Amino acid sequence: MKLTDDLAALKGVGPAMVGLLGRLGLRTVHDLITYYPRRYDDYSLLSQINQLKPGTVSIAAKIKQVRGRYVRRGMHVTEAIASDQSGSVRLVWFNQPYRSTAIKPDTDYFVSGMFELSHQRLAIMNPNMELASDFPVNTARIVPIYRETKGLKSNQIRRLVRTAAPVISGLPETLPRWVIEKEKLMPRGEAILAMHFPADAKNLSAAQRRLGFEEVFELSLASLLSKRELSAAEAMPIPFNQNLAKEFVSHLPFKLTDDQRKVVWRIYQDMGQTSPMNRLVEGDVGSGKTVVAAMAALMAMEQNHQVALMAPTELLARQHAETLFRLLEPLGYADQVGLLVGSLKPKQKEIAKQRIADGDVRLIVGTHALIQTSVAMPGLRLVVVDEQHRFGVEQRKTLQAKAGHALHVLSLSATPIPRSLALTLYGEMDISILATKPAGRKPIRTKICSPNSRKTLYATIVKELVAGRQMFIVTPQIVENEITGKSAAETTFKDIKRDFSDYTVGLLHGKLPATEKVAVMEQFVRGELRILVATTVIEVGVDVPNATVMLIENADSFGLAQIHQLRGRVGRSDHQGFCYLMMSDSKAPNRRLRALESSSDGFALAELDLKIRGPGAIYGQLQHGALDLRVAKLTDTKLIVAARESAESFLNRGENLLHYPGLQSRINSLQAVTNLN
Ligand code: ADP
Ligand code: MG
Repeated sequence: MKLTDDLAALKGVGPAMVGLLGRLGLRTVHDLITYYPRRYDDYSLLSQINQLKPGTVSIAAKIKQVRGRYVRRGMHVTEAIASDQSGSVRLVWFNQPYRSTAIKPDTDYFVSGMFELSHQRLAIMNPNMELASDFPVNTARIVPIYRETKGLKSNQIRRLVRTAAPVISGLPETLPRWVIEKEKLMPRGEAILAMHFPADAKNLSAAQRRLGFEEVFELSLASLLSKRELSAAEAMPIPFNQNLAKEFVSHLPFKLTDDQRKVVWRIYQDMGQTSPMNRLVEGDVGSGKTVVAAMAALMAMEQNHQVALMAPTELLARQHAETLFRLLEPLGYADQVGLLVGSLKPKQKEIAKQRIADGDVRLIVGTHALIQTSVAMPGLRLVVVDEQHRFGVEQRKTLQAKAGHALHVLSLSATPIPRSLALTLYGEMDISILATKPAGRKPIRTKICSPNSRKTLYATIVKELVAGRQMFIVTPQIVENEITGKSAAETTFKDIKRDFSDYTVGLLHGKLPATEKVAVMEQFVRGELRILVATTVIEVGVDVPNATVMLIENADSFGLAQIHQLRGRVGRSDHQGFCYLMMSDSKAPNRRLRALESSSDGFALAELDLKIRGPGAIYGQLQHGALDLRVAKLTDTKLIVAARESAESFLNRGENLLHYPGLQSRINSLQAVTNLN
């Protein structure tokens, strides 16, 4: 048996089984042995029958008096008596008629199941049983529970994995010996076998540690290699002009925060090198990333280079263009700022393209569509990517082709990513964090509300409207009504127009045409609309200082980091901001939501979300591609740091991947995945 063998080659796997296995994504022996259990049931403790206590039990016993019968139509019951030296116990199965014929007399079995009351008498209900042996699979051990599919249950999967056990034990090591020794890792084959059939809890956690370590090690090595490859490319150094930076800062209506200053300084150092910058700046909503981007752009513009700034939506691109125009105006650079987005009128678009091609526009603001546009950007040296987390190698290549050489890339993200997660997912980037917020920011007053207090809430909210302020109402993206096809946003829009009939209400959601989205948003920015009902399209970036109230409907369906980002849309001025989290029902709010009331630290909230909801919650918002960690827990910072350090040592020692064929193939596929992101 080989890893690449089709499962059809295994004993007892017919065409029907092949089909069922295929549904679980299992085709080869390798797929099967790395199909790790979802969880385990602990049946490892063998008891004497006269010592049995209600609950999960296992016994070693002989079985007699097996009797099957139909008690009523469609309901079959099998009963048997199991005995050991200490006593006897009743076994009961429902609707498993084959049980009565399969049991051999005078033979030792292991039996595992729930010992509980059935018709006022204690019995082991629907137990698993198998011939007693030194390698039981379904009983008398920690038993693996797999993700199943109709017609394919865990016992069958266990049996197949058991058949493959000799292959598993013989699996070659993939990690360098010095890593295994230093980290005291279990050998690979032993670990994979222990994932399915652990001897005990300690054995299982050692196996998980080994395989988790391997995953993070491979991921880290792949990203470190990508980083090396990138830094070997030649970009044009952009020199730092101190006077220009000082002049820019002198025109700002505020003082830069310490973090802003530090981060800008790091960026200037990066841009001064021939190896391309690849830096991610993470900063909570409102931490002032735009100014940082403007200062990076300024240095490039001064050298007559071009800069492309890409936002996730046209709306944001427009807003960025305006902000940058204002920021650069005092230095006389404003007319070098140009907007290129799909919703421009054809004539304007032509003009914009021409000015870019001529080099008159040096700061090109747009969406990611900029990558695909036909427009030439011969002077392009720096790319700023807003709210996109990662700029893929393919995208980089496309832009580099326009520019004719390697580019400096600065990514900005408001998603607070816990450090361990960032190291694992974005290991190929340098990361800076804007932790301090601009002085004088008041935390947004956040309050959880239940639907039956809606009236009281509206009475509170309307005071803000009366005072001239504006309000956001955010709804989840789900389609609410299958018959009318109306989304939650549309329904809420109707309700709000009725409940706030004195005020103008707008609706913004992802399905609107781009031009309409822009129009609605502009009306809101100008204050012509006082209330904006929207889906999370407003999540990133949108800046309306006069908006002070954010009401989030069905708040329990959002992630903490996401709500935190949303509420960052209000309280962007001297006015106090308010965020109301409307629950979907009147149950008591959970710990997650309550954390939002007390904390305004995006990183702490993300950390909490990671702990409570798991990486999926955060993953959902990051384009993590196929970087699925099957064993490693992203909350296990110690493991992640250790694996990352070993990957660094691997490179520093001058190790050659060619000596590790198993590792190399994994690294290649991982690099391909990160490159596509
Ligand atoms: P984000 O990090 O969410 O992109 P922005 O760059 O949009 O934040 O900045 C949010 C607001 O804070 C803007 O109005 C900006 O002018 C202002 N701002 C930025 N830096 C500072 C600072 N150091 N002090 C005071 N206000 C600042
Ligand atoms: Mg921003």
